[in-house]
Amino acid sequence: MKGLVFNIQRFSINDGPGIRTTVFLKGCNLRCQWCHNPESINVHQELQHFDQLCIGCGACIEACPHSVISTGDDSKLEFDRKHCVKCGACVDACMSDAIELAGEYMDVEEVVETIAKDREYYENSGGGLTISGGEPLLQKDFVKEIFRRTKDMGIHNTLDTAAHVDWSVLEEVLPYVDLILLDMKVMDHDKHFESTGRFNHEILENAKRLADEDVDIIVRIPVIPSVNDTDENMDRTAAFLSDFERLVGVELLPYHTLGVDKNLSLVKRCISRHSLNRKSRKWKPSRRVSAGMISRLRSVDVSWNSFSLI
Ligand code: SF4
Ligand code: SF4
Repeated sequence: MKGLVFNIQRFSINDGPGIRTTVFLKGCNLRCQWCHNPESINVHQELQHFDQLCIGCGACIEACPHSVISTGDDSKLEFDRKHCVKCGACVDACMSDAIELAGEYMDVEEVVETIAKDREYYENSGGGLTISGGEPLLQKDFVKEIFRRTKDMGIHNTLDTAAHVDWSVLEEVLPYVDLILLDMKVMDHDKHFESTGRFNHEILENAKRLADEDVDIIVRIPVIPSVNDTDENMDRTAAFLSDFERLVGVELLPYHTLGVDKNLSLVKRCISRHSLNRKSRKWKPSRRVSAGMISRLRSVDVSWNSFSLI
């Protein structure tokens, strides 16, 4: 069985406890305006061109067997993406690493082999495997098969999800999961729609059902000024989480602007260059705001909390 992977990060320390291997899958059903991994959104391979690394040598134009690369009036490269067959010849030809192919189809065996290489580190650090995205559950069968095999190997399995899927999808994968990293954005339904393109009724419903399951939960909240950093949102979040018996932590993730260049490299049309620049100026990470949020979230009554800024 194959899945579309966009990155495998070994020795990861930010995606659950201990030292982990994080497998990032391509495909997402939310459109968060602050997304820092826009190359994870579509469920197909995509060509990325990084203008700032390109020296205009033209090697990629010569290498492309389908003649889909040309130079425009401003001497910048233009890609006829509709006719690109993702063969990767231009990536190999570019000596400046200015072109990348986002996404690789990989076998379950291949992924599990890579994960298994670091078993000793997992055992010594209390780490394991994390599958993230995008929304990994869009490739549910692939996720389930990897988790099934790693669980058999005694590896700790963590699923990073926004839970915007049918409950039956979560239910199928849960028997193989030890910890859920539950990504929550904002409690207000309309604000959630404005900033992610989707309402959050299903997410909150699934979150409540997860709280009754035999699985640990860490809630992760990207702190986006003017979207979710209000006292009202933090109070509502704390109230919502107050009866989650298996909640072992809440992590606040500062917003950063990494996604802006990546978005431009993919020529995303969902957000224009103008609005990206405007938003990236508006959404500055703020430790002061996060400190205020932490104090409000401390009202959550759980056995162990790890309020952390990562
Ligand atoms: S991936 Fe292949 S077809 Fe697409 S632009 Fe590069 S060389 Fe041409
Ligand atoms: S080969 Fe690389 S550096 Fe040269 S023109 Fe193409 S993208 Fe730019």
